[in-house]
Amino acid sequence: MTSPAGKPYSLLIRDIHTLVLMDEQDTVLRGAFLYAENGEIKLVGTRPPRGLHPTRTMSGRYLVGIPGMVNTHHHLYQTLTRAYPGAADASLFGWLRTLYPLWARMDEEALYVAALVGMAELMLSGCTTTADHHYVFPRGQAKLIDAEIEAAQRIGIRFHPTRGSMSVGQSRGGLPPDSLVQNEETILADSERLIRKYHDPGRGSMLQIGLAPCSPFSVSKELMRQTAELGRRHGVGLHTHLAETRDEEIYCRKRFGQRPLAFLENVGWLGDSTWIAHGIHLRRSEIRRLGRARVGVAHCPSSNMRLASGVAPVLDLARAGCPVGLGVDGSASNDSSDMLAETRQALLLHRLTHGAGALSVRQALRMGTVEGAHCLGRRDLGSLEPHKRADVALFDLRDSSYSGAGDAVAALLLCTPTRVSTLIIEGRVVVENHELQTLAIAPILACHRRFAAKIVGSPPLF
Ligand SMILES: [Zn+2]
Repeated sequence: MTSPAGKPYSLLIRDIHTLVLMDEQDTVLRGAFLYAENGEIKLVGTRPPRGLHPTRTMSGRYLVGIPGMVNTHHHLYQTLTRAYPGAADASLFGWLRTLYPLWARMDEEALYVAALVGMAELMLSGCTTTADHHYVFPRGQAKLIDAEIEAAQRIGIRFHPTRGSMSVGQSRGGLPPDSLVQNEETILADSERLIRKYHDPGRGSMLQIGLAPCSPFSVSKELMRQTAELGRRHGVGLHTHLAETRDEEIYCRKRFGQRPLAFLENVGWLGDSTWIAHGIHLRRSEIRRLGRARVGVAHCPSSNMRLASGVAPVLDLARAGCPVGLGVDGSASNDSSDMLAETRQALLLHRLTHGAGALSVRQALRMGTVEGAHCLGRRDLGSLEPHKRADVALFDLRDSSYSGAGDAVAALLLCTPTRVSTLIIEGRVVVENHELQTLAIAPILACHRRFAAKIVGSPPLF
């Protein structure tokens, strides 16, 4: 793989203060270098060999580097409805019922801008790969996923959009209004169209499609089954919300006569190409079943705390064999897209719940990087080793947040999260000196505020 112009390119970052490789040996290097060619890491160590002639050389003198972070669950469109007054203090079902009618006003242009803003936030927090779960398709808006793909290509982030869906509206016993659900043939045909048009399964892929019926309270069993078949036929990942709230459990018992995990199992979803968002309300035997099937879990602590959904048993899930990654989940239930802050949140939540020794900084960072990559089925991402892709997040130890810190790696999560100093995706510098290099963000934000005001029906804050 070469640059967009087809020219070979290479990058050398030298004198990196501290570099966390996130490899099996848990290596941390001081005074490190990293050399990449055409998007792939070729060499990592402490003394670069002579004879390298990189296209670009950078100094990492005051920087602490980690693998680019991987966001495993998000709803980029929700940046348009952050901190909405009517949903500020609700739990999940009330929050959804308040926001569905606003989301019904979204169009391709608004989603394009919303996605750019969410992706910019993610990148500035050290994220190099993001999933997105888009399940709201107002009538006449057929190309919403295409719009966010266009945004990802413009800003330069590695992207795993999932084609979400809702097929059971209020009149058939579901939670969403009928105006926001689609019929099953339309959903499956569009899912297949997106896979054929965009999915790139190769090493270093910048774009992979997943399939993602929204939740047990908005889709039919038949759609779940057919989606799994379609996903397996094309070798793409399957994603959905599961076991997020007690309300969902009550709904599943009433409607299907089974608990959420039995519902998932029953429709043929337990396998290693599936990753679920949340996984909070699970019994011990269910955790074991998920672990045996190697189902990935997108842990979203901020959203779970914000909506008071509960604490996901992620340490048990990881012990049972599930890859556990992190997700910022929905810009209107967090209400931010900050991966470093989310990783800190996971650390704090599980220490509070299970004791100070329950989760180390390094383990939390693993969830935010290599484990997240495994949730998305990416063995070429998540650690800084030869043959992996060159995705790196570098934070500046000169920032006031880190002043006085005794351990550069611990400082990343114990101190206030900062904006990334340098971000490398596929061997290219996309953030430098704390600023995005691929996009001027100020005019995008002005436009975003206008779209948000239009959608919520009130004047912008300024
Ligand atoms: Zn979600």
